[in-house]
Amino acid sequence: MTDVVRTPVIRPAELIQRKRDGAELSSEEITGLILGYGRGEVPDYQLAAFCMAVYFRGLSPRETYALTQALIRSGETIDLSGLLGRRVVDKHSTGGVGDKTSLAVGPIVAACGVPFGKMSGRGLGHTGGTLDKLESVPGFRVELTLDEFVEQVRTVGVAIIGQTAELVPADKSLYALRDVTATVDQISLIAASIMSKKIAAGAQAIVLDVKVGDGAFMKTLDDARRLADAMLALGEEAGLRVVCLLTDMEQPLGSAVGNALEVREALATVRGVGPPDFTELVRTACARLLMLSDLGVDDAEARRRIEDAVSGGAAEATWRLWLEAQGGTADEAALERAPVVRPVEARSSGTVTRLGAIAIGNAALHLGAGRRAKGDTIDHAVGVVCLRKRGDQVERGQPLAEVHARDEATAAAAADEVLAAYELGDDAPPARSILLEVVD
Ligand code: URA
Repeated sequence: MTDVVRTPVIRPAELIQRKRDGAELSSEEITGLILGYGRGEVPDYQLAAFCMAVYFRGLSPRETYALTQALIRSGETIDLSGLLGRRVVDKHSTGGVGDKTSLAVGPIVAACGVPFGKMSGRGLGHTGGTLDKLESVPGFRVELTLDEFVEQVRTVGVAIIGQTAELVPADKSLYALRDVTATVDQISLIAASIMSKKIAAGAQAIVLDVKVGDGAFMKTLDDARRLADAMLALGEEAGLRVVCLLTDMEQPLGSAVGNALEVREALATVRGVGPPDFTELVRTACARLLMLSDLGVDDAEARRRIEDAVSGGAAEATWRLWLEAQGGTADEAALERAPVVRPVEARSSGTVTRLGAIAIGNAALHLGAGRRAKGDTIDHAVGVVCLRKRGDQVERGQPLAEVHARDEATAAAAADEVLAAYELGDDAPPARSILLEVVD
């Protein structure tokens, strides 16, 4: 653990002005600004103006590194790999619709003998959060002490918990500020925010899943590459082994969107019977983590061990041990089910040419699966299951999707939203793998 560091007083207005005018700030200036903000000495309105200046002017690689280090220095750090004497691995997604990847990756990787320790966040808006999904497991505790976290990674091989308040506190305040000042989608700010948390949490090898498309922060492959490059550079400076997967978020990932529904789908994938696109992403992320780990395996050997862990039942056994270690009920039947399940039927025959990720995410949000504002409570049972995905054929009257709702009225409204998210045509769209590119 490190101490919070004191830095000299800086003049925020002058730094905002220089950044606004396109100057490069020194590392000391950025450190002073961020640590001053973390201590409450620099007010929100000045940091908001600074973020807007950064939004338009960007940050150089040196400034991005200084920002990342300053965010880390605002709180404590954990030497997870040092405490365990193993190379601990972690994975992180930039956020998407139906993204339950960590839930399946953690137990599979652990079943292959690689320790997986992850701190996660909650969902806001159309994207879901890993912690919310895990809390649909009755009894599951996302708040472990750091000692419990380390011990569980040591004994079970996998732990996923909420980020502790002591870790990178300045990012928490800064992210909330960016969220309400239209400054979230800036590549350097996102890279520094994500990598500060990853570095502080102490894993040594990380797979970063950079989502690209309609349902993601990064709408284009070029922007996703820029974000990947920025995060790789930060990881390299910090001595971490990092790989970025650029993956498709034009349509929801897998079939299920909604907390308990996604937990069921993650479990199916751990058992080897998940949807094809989600299975491909999970296996690729697991293989990359095994290759980055201290096992010393190549892609072919990693994939062989993953297949053995899934088909031989070790991955499911680890899933069970993991949920129970965090107080959860591993019995799938304990996951809540929505009282109303309504099919959404195709109005014409054709091929699915488009399935809007944001529209499905919003339908799930309106059903109660997500939160519109911080502090909203979540209905874990509700959501959408997309039975047809891009490229699938459907006949008129056949189900495209299912809406899982608390009552008939919300089901009817969500069914209209889901129907509008589907576009049917005559020609199948070009086949597109979930994995668009690997940047390492
Ligand atoms: N996720 C984060 O943790 N931070 C960002 O800035 C964006 C996504």
